[in-house]
Amino acid sequence: MPNTINLGQWLSSASQQLKQAGLDNARQEADYLLSHLLQKNTAYLYTRPELALETEQQLKLNTWLAERIAGKPLAWILGEWDFWGLTLEVSPATLIPRADTERLVELALQLSIDKPKARVLDMGTGTGAIALAIKKERPNWQVDAVDFKLDAVSLARKNARQLELDIRVWQSDWWQQIPPQTYDLILSNPPYIHPQDPHLSQGDLRFEPKTALVGGKDGLQAYRDLLVPIQQRLTQGGYLLVEHGYDQAAAIAELFNLAELNDIKNYKDYADQPRATLGCRS
Ligand code: GLN
Repeated sequence: MPNTINLGQWLSSASQQLKQAGLDNARQEADYLLSHLLQKNTAYLYTRPELALETEQQLKLNTWLAERIAGKPLAWILGEWDFWGLTLEVSPATLIPRADTERLVELALQLSIDKPKARVLDMGTGTGAIALAIKKERPNWQVDAVDFKLDAVSLARKNARQLELDIRVWQSDWWQQIPPQTYDLILSNPPYIHPQDPHLSQGDLRFEPKTALVGGKDGLQAYRDLLVPIQQRLTQGGYLLVEHGYDQAAAIAELFNLAELNDIKNYKDYADQPRATLGCRS
């Protein structure tokens, strides 16, 4: 049986172990684990450092700590992750929502789309993150989302139900099963990493599904697939906005150009790296 320890002691020991394991935000991660177990915020942890942990709680925390030290993504240990102020259930079926993708949502909301009931499509939705964030901000828009993986479709639907956001989610390999209709805005954070990129063997990326990360032979295949019918799928004046790798801006602009999209613009992420490209069907 572990010795009795209190919140303060667990936090300092856990953050030290996480730090030794090479994690950058060790203290914050320890806070997350303890907050999650106790279902309390960080202020609670810090104002009650002397509170003793029960044996069961210690065992659970130590299991999580060992998993985290072995590399398991924090989001999977917690079972949920925040995106655009929404708490989303996560699973090994999909990519874990990233802060960079919140930038895509932010950019989408800045577009001048005057229609009260604009139609929006999120391609490769995963947890449903982009579609749900848009629906939250624009409740009158009709938001559709697709993913080729059935597990992702179920997860996105579950997140929509839990958040009471009315989006439609279909299983579709890119355009294959999407009903023939046009959209005012198409959004995507597709798999875009080059198969030889060393980042794939680092951090959370080691665990996340390759299908959500690797964009074919050169990292760009998903964009080609998305762009094939784009002229038939965007309304006149409709927008395509995609996330991409920091070094892909020029290649994406070229693909957008070949697909006869206009007003092509690139936007940077919160770390000042080129991260999103917008095009318009005029
Ligand atoms: N932004 C992710 C990363 O580099 C990749 C996401 C993707 O391929 N869509 O960690």
